This record gives sequence, structure tokens and C-alpha cells, in this order.
Amino acid sequence: MKDLSNENILHIKDGNVEYLQFRKLLEYKNKLQHCYTTRCDNYEEDNGRNYKNLYKSLHLDYSKLIKIKEQIHSNLVQRIDNKETEPDKVDGLITNKKGISFSLRFADCTPIYIYDPVKNIIGNIHSGWKGTVGKIAQVAVKKIIKEYNSNPKDIICCIGPAIGKCHFEVDEDVKNIFENTFSYMNINHKIIEKGEEKEGKQKYFIDTNLINRTMLEEMGLQKENIIESNICTVCNKDVLHSYRIDKEKAGRNTAIISLI
Ligand SMILES: [Zn+2]
Repeated sequence: MKDLSNENILHIKDGNVEYLQFRKLLEYKNKLQHCYTTRCDNYEEDNGRNYKNLYKSLHLDYSKLIKIKEQIHSNLVQRIDNKETEPDKVDGLITNKKGISFSLRFADCTPIYIYDPVKNIIGNIHSGWKGTVGKIAQVAVKKIIKEYNSNPKDIICCIGPAIGKCHFEVDEDVKNIFENTFSYMNINHKIIEKGEEKEGKQKYFIDTNLINRTMLEEMGLQKENIIESNICTVCNKDVLHSYRIDKEKAGRNTAIISLI
């Protein structure tokens, strides 16, 4: 399979499991584990068997895995304090507890890994386009600041593989939602690009990576602590699951983060 390593990402191949990791988060590998899985396996469809192999490779405890049963494209973020907690219908989880690993599922939506190395806090965020419009990245960072007294200057956010501006083509109605929500940022000329007209409908391309980055900068994060994967799931459809490509049959890439 093609290697997706780049200046921010390391593509790991370990026996029958394969995943991506952020080089920045690997600097803290004695305190933190994380990954973003590839198409090499659909970790959902095998009663956890492949998850177990994955967890073995990551040296994580499979029994402390926490999944969100239903990700609902909201901007809701929940704090988890023990592994017995069954998350509500939310799209983001945060904790300061070691050993609990958050596992969220993605096919084109944006995964955001949050880590405060000073206060030792993690977050795993599912930011689909609706979650992005709902500013879930900001909701999560605000919650971490409020509940754990984090300094935003310490917080690291890694924006994982997702559908890039090159492929996130939308109609006028969705374009208008982005335009109206983020016009205050004064970067609409950068986040919205006019595309072709198809079957009489004007198309537009949206840059959700830049929106998320800008929202995180607004929260007081340092520019160098916001890291993008620079990997588009559609451009790399041979390696990563993509809803745009596979529609209802699409598998899911899994984003995992855990304090260790
Ligand atoms: Zn693309």
C-alpha cells in the first residue's frame, strides 16, 4: 500500500495492522498514544478482532476502549472520568485519566486530536461539516480550559486526514451556511472557491482545514501547535476509507488517542 508519510505524518506498518501517526504527538510517546487507521482493515466489521491486533500494536488496553455508539454530527463534547462511562450521543470526548482510550470513526469528516502536555489532557473530536459549522473544535478547547484549567498556549491540536478543499465540493445552500457562519473571520475568499457549474448548479469548494485552524487560533492556540495532516481522504482513497467514494458502503477510519 502507498506510504502516506509526510513532514507531519508517519505511516506505520506493523504486521497486519497499519496506521498513521502525527510526528508532533510522537514527541510525547511516553505519555500519549494515538493513531488513525487506514483501509488495510475495516476495524468495525470483525467483532473487535482487528481492534485487538491494533491495540496490541499500540500497546493499549483493549478493555479500556471507549467508543461513541452514534456520532451525530453535533457540536457536543463530553468529559469522561472512568472507563465504565458509556458516552452519550456526542461528537467529542475529553479526559485527564490515563489508560482510557477514545476511539472515533471517520470517513471524510475531520478528526481533531487534542493534547495538553502540561495538564495532561486529551480530546478526540469528530468534526464533520456540520460539526465544523457548529465550531466543535472551539467547544472542546473551551471545555478543556474551563474544566481542567488548561492554558490555550500549551494545547496541541492535530487536524487529521479528511476530505480536503480539492474534493469537498458543495452546492450553493451549504456554501451559504459556511459563508454566513465564518464571514466574521474575513477569510471567505480563502475558505470558499467557486467551482464548475454542473447540471445547471453552481458548485463550490470549501476548506474546512483552514476553518478549523483559524478557529483554534482564535482560542489562543499557538500557530505551531496546530498541525495539519495535509492528507485528503478522497485523494488517497486507495489507502483511506472515503464516504464520497464508497457512499453507503464506505468503511471507517478509526482515530484513537489515549494517555498512558
Ligand atoms: Zn482531495
